[in-house]
Amino acid sequence: MPTGLIGKSYSEMLSLHREYGAPPELARESFRRLYAGAFMHEADFAHLPATIRTRLFAIERSPAALIADRRASEDGSLKFLVQLHDGRRVESVYLPFGKRRTVCVSSQVGCVLDCRFCATGAMGFSRNLTAAEIVIQVLLVRRSLRALGLDDFVSNVVFMGMGEPFYNYEAVLAAANLLCDPRGMALAPRHITISTAGVLPAIESYCEADLAYKLAISITAADEELRNRLMPINERYRLGELRNLLLKYPPRVVSRIMFEVPLLGGVNDRQHDAERLAEFCDGLPVRINLIAWNPVKGSAPFESPSPDSVLAFQNILRAAGLTVFVRRNMGRDIAGACGQLAAGNADAAG
Ligand code: SF4
Repeated sequence: MPTGLIGKSYSEMLSLHREYGAPPELARESFRRLYAGAFMHEADFAHLPATIRTRLFAIERSPAALIADRRASEDGSLKFLVQLHDGRRVESVYLPFGKRRTVCVSSQVGCVLDCRFCATGAMGFSRNLTAAEIVIQVLLVRRSLRALGLDDFVSNVVFMGMGEPFYNYEAVLAAANLLCDPRGMALAPRHITISTAGVLPAIESYCEADLAYKLAISITAADEELRNRLMPINERYRLGELRNLLLKYPPRVVSRIMFEVPLLGGVNDRQHDAERLAEFCDGLPVRINLIAWNPVKGSAPFESPSPDSVLAFQNILRAAGLTVFVRRNMGRDIAGACGQLAAGNADAAG
């Protein structure tokens, strides 16, 4: 069973070790092994005296999490189904691209939001993940890479898996802080991306706190009515309010924000959709990511956009002076979009 130390911050690790009679340097080494090394079983903590180690592992037990399924894509990405201690399952994805090694983690089991193009939204919501359950996804992916004989290096973590991260704000930030602790995994804060469907109070907290993590907001459509239909959260947190909120903050803060636009063929990929989006972005120093949507088995009857419409959309935004990229669509052959693997395993997960 993995150690219950997972999810502990550096100061919690120090005080826990102190409680068990271990000096700070041993606590520091435990922290390093756990987060920098992704070692999490008792035998991996041989630096601790046996009596302390046994007590630590006997008492500080972790809610077990294991990899219940793994699929490999032709493009090198790997999708993991992670089973939590209560039998519920979430997805994590490993995405190697260029020099980047990204792990996409889930923050909730299911999702309360019901974005019409998303397999997770169709599953409903079960519960929030703890910070430990978020961090363990990264550790399990790294261990799995090692077991496959691959390099376990991870350069980026994105909170774009199952769930709305900003409805689990505290645990998500605690997990991000842990992943960036220089005494552990030491990820650069700018290599962490937190995604939201547009939870305005949390976006405001993020901007106020001037966090160094990147923020990705799923805009999807810049027309209020169309967005209402595709992302019902828009009925509560309107696009107009989002724009007004972002205009309050200095470019330094807003430039860490990306607008994500999953393009659905014939729905939000038309010329006037691009023009509305360009208007919406006017004066905001954001970057725009276009993603050609993947068909989701059993969900609403959307289609992928044609390559030509994606290019035309990009050109309209570029002509308006905006920074826009087309994100590579990885893992198409392994149910790569959020929630597709878990939805496919829903019967097995109970
Ligand atoms: S896209 Fe994200 S926020 Fe929307 S339903 Fe899916 S998991 Fe939830």
